[in-house]
Amino acid sequence: MLGAIIGDIVGSVYKFNNYRAKDFTPFFHPKAFFTDDTVCTIAVADALVNGKDPATTLREWGRRYWKNGGWGQRFALWIATEDMGPYNSLGNGAAMRVSAAGLLAKSVDEATTLSDRVTEVTHNHLEGMRGGAATAVAIHMARTGRWAGEIRQAIAQRFQYDLTPSVDEIRPSYRYNERSQDTLPQALTCALEARDYEDAIRNAISIGGDSDTIAAIAGAVAEALFGISDEMAAEAWRYLPAEMHVVLQDLYAIAGQPGSVSEDVSS
Ligand SMILES: [Mg+2]
Repeated sequence: MLGAIIGDIVGSVYKFNNYRAKDFTPFFHPKAFFTDDTVCTIAVADALVNGKDPATTLREWGRRYWKNGGWGQRFALWIATEDMGPYNSLGNGAAMRVSAAGLLAKSVDEATTLSDRVTEVTHNHLEGMRGGAATAVAIHMARTGRWAGEIRQAIAQRFQYDLTPSVDEIRPSYRYNERSQDTLPQALTCALEARDYEDAIRNAISIGGDSDTIAAIAGAVAEALFGISDEMAAEAWRYLPAEMHVVLQDLYAIAGQPGSVSEDVSS
């Protein structure tokens, strides 16, 4: 979950200014900030950990951090409109916010069930539901010790995504796209091909497109595969307000790992 948040922060400066290589520096750009991907990820965790209504919780967090921006047009309308129901979204917002479902699930089926519960309130299109569930299942598999090749095969079979193109094959022709089916396979590949957490984020930025969201999805899976260094976790922690620290601490207290977020270094 912190993996998704770091991806969002690192990618925030490249979303509308793509940098199509892995050598960007520094890793945390001076102008980096957390965006809607972080706000929604925290909201979903708050809903699942504390048994709250997902729609209400997403609206509360969204309104409170409205100025952090990056909101999709229809999602912004949904946040602002109290009685608006699910709007059949096939956007990548389902996958970018769903990490807590993968971390809390005790089985592949539960990962899907938890993902569906928090996704159907907005992204009830087949592609939205598929993107959220595939991300949650990949996270669950990674944190229960499955290796990248197994995850790639299982996700391709269960969710019918083509995960054969490599990061180097994706990069030359990839263009900005917010559809789930044109984001999730690429983001997953960025994580599954990586040698460590940072490498996954560098893969994600390097293909261009919707960088904060691609890095958030790749980062969530990469955290489960590799863990995050204490230094990087501490640096990310400083971007976040105290009420987000509380949600992260509660989530990890239930889900376990990583020890690196147990200390509040924000002072
Ligand atoms: Mg964003």
